[in-house]
Amino acid sequence: MPKKAKAAVMTAPKKDLEILQYPLPRVERGCILVKITCCTICGSDVHSWVGRRTAPTPIILGHEIVGTIVEMGEGVTRDSGDRLLEAGDRITWTIMDNCGKCYYCREKGLMMKCRHLKKYGHDRCADPPHFIGGFAEYCYITPGTCVIKVPDNLTDEEVAPANCALATVVAGWEAAEIKPFENVLVQGAGALGFYACALAKHYGCRRIIVTDVLDHRLELIKAFGATDTINVKGMADEEIIGTVRDQTAGFGVDCVLEVAGLPNLISLGLKCLRIGGRYVEIGNSYPGANFTYDACDLMMRRLTIKGIHNYDAKHLQMGVDLLETTHEKYPFRDMVTHSVSLENMNAGMRLAESGEAIRVAVLP
Ligand SMILES: [Zn+2]
Ligand SMILES: [Zn+2]
Repeated sequence: MPKKAKAAVMTAPKKDLEILQYPLPRVERGCILVKITCCTICGSDVHSWVGRRTAPTPIILGHEIVGTIVEMGEGVTRDSGDRLLEAGDRITWTIMDNCGKCYYCREKGLMMKCRHLKKYGHDRCADPPHFIGGFAEYCYITPGTCVIKVPDNLTDEEVAPANCALATVVAGWEAAEIKPFENVLVQGAGALGFYACALAKHYGCRRIIVTDVLDHRLELIKAFGATDTINVKGMADEEIIGTVRDQTAGFGVDCVLEVAGLPNLISLGLKCLRIGGRYVEIGNSYPGANFTYDACDLMMRRLTIKGIHNYDAKHLQMGVDLLETTHEKYPFRDMVTHSVSLENMNAGMRLAESGEAIRVAVLP
């Protein structure tokens, strides 16, 4: 094993990432050193890079990671599903390391809001173990992380987005309490939208309506189970609401999932709900995403709004299960439209920012 390894480091927002070398850490008890095989660029990496949200620097961004075990610290024998682990195994893991003992971990079942939370690709990398983000050759996994062995029948590109995009959608899905034959509206045909459609189809939803402004994405999402797509570019809100109502016997959808990350979609989405409908907000992961809505309508039409940020370990396992059992049915592998090397990281970030790519894979 080399003594040092490379990482693409963000030293300040709006600045190109720099390839730096850091010493590889000694593998402590309960920890795992992983050789990264693929990390996909998430929308939130782009938000941090362009300064839309603040990130501590220097930082190794990237959290949608998959890799193979190089070394396991004392005491590590099995993954969170009790599967035996050994060097060379391919694994994915939760975006967070949580303590398991605090108020939110223990009492409220909100491990993603742990009071001692550490998140891969979100914390400063200046101090050892340095390798705590995905845009690097290695990643150092600490004991509060839930690790999952990756099924052999999945490719790295299929698995990489699981521990952010997919697991978050699964958490949102659970919060939405969607039942078979319900009608759902997905606002946004990006990676989260693709997963939302696959879940909706898998669960037996009736109408799976998707809105976006990019035709090529709306075309691709049909392969993930979307039954109706609406390119809303240039359409007035009333026209969009009318189209959704027409597709749902005049009532509106049972549930809306917002995965585009555009605050002005929220009031529109709420109006697309039937009486008693549920709205799940998943996409707006940067501050200042304000919206206004008539509280009288919220009350009179008995609407529910839920916010979902990150997920619980079980949602990651469900995501991997979904991929394992349905990857021949839905073209998850087509979601990675571009790939770059670590050295070409900045080109990859620009591609991700442009919206041209659905997911860009970084292959160190
Ligand atoms: Zn993410
Ligand atoms: Zn905790």
